[in-house]
Amino acid sequence: MRRKLVAGNWKMNGSLATLAELDAIAQAAAAAPGVDVAIAVPFTLIHPAAVRAPGLAIGAEDVHEAESGAHTGCVSAAMVREAGASFTIAGHSERRADQGETSHDAWAKAAAAHRQGLNVILCCGETEAERDAGRAERVVQAQIEKSVPDHADGRWFTLAYEPRWAIGTGRTPTLDEIAAIHAIARAKLRHMIGDAADGVRILYGGSVVGGNAGDILATDNVDGALVGGASLTAAKFVPIIEAAA
Ligand code: 13P
Repeated sequence: MRRKLVAGNWKMNGSLATLAELDAIAQAAAAAPGVDVAIAVPFTLIHPAAVRAPGLAIGAEDVHEAESGAHTGCVSAAMVREAGASFTIAGHSERRADQGETSHDAWAKAAAAHRQGLNVILCCGETEAERDAGRAERVVQAQIEKSVPDHADGRWFTLAYEPRWAIGTGRTPTLDEIAAIHAIARAKLRHMIGDAADGVRILYGGSVVGGNAGDILATDNVDGALVGGASLTAAKFVPIIEAAA
């Protein structure tokens, strides 16, 4: 039985002042002991967030694949762990689009994070053009094939399906479309890592809000949500935690 995971991704948002939102989020998490709650924040907020909300899993939104070295402006997995992160996101579609990251990069980052003892939420998902061309399933399969480390297991590894066209748009796939991709992702994981696939949580992300979370979280093979905009305030994020409970 996979526990539900509700994870926030603050992206390039937030400040020391808005960390106050974590107080009510931590309270909601404590009131939902059957749900895991995590929040990925900008690098600069990891340490203060971890200090402010010790009951929440605080994570990074990205790490560099190297352990250290001449990579100006980059941050390693060991650094974010030392700052208080227990996990990182890897392969988010915004990094694929903005920084040109590939599935191979996501693989290397996930493996580097795991070597440092971090949990990993690895993202996959098709563009609108790929979906319109009937290629969504093949695109997601190929991303999984190239980015999931071959020793992945559910104790540290989570997959997130985030169709790019659903991110920040208020549009979501139908529940049947979500179920179809999640089933294909599960089958692909089973092909790659065998029975360990049954323990890997597969999150849905893309315009999840309090009003649609219940239906999405009740969909087959949906083991949680990766939430962007609605994770920025407790008022919007707490209903999603409650929907998962
Ligand atoms: P939104 O919830 O704002 O659509 O963002 C989803 C996302 O990209 C989470 O990683």
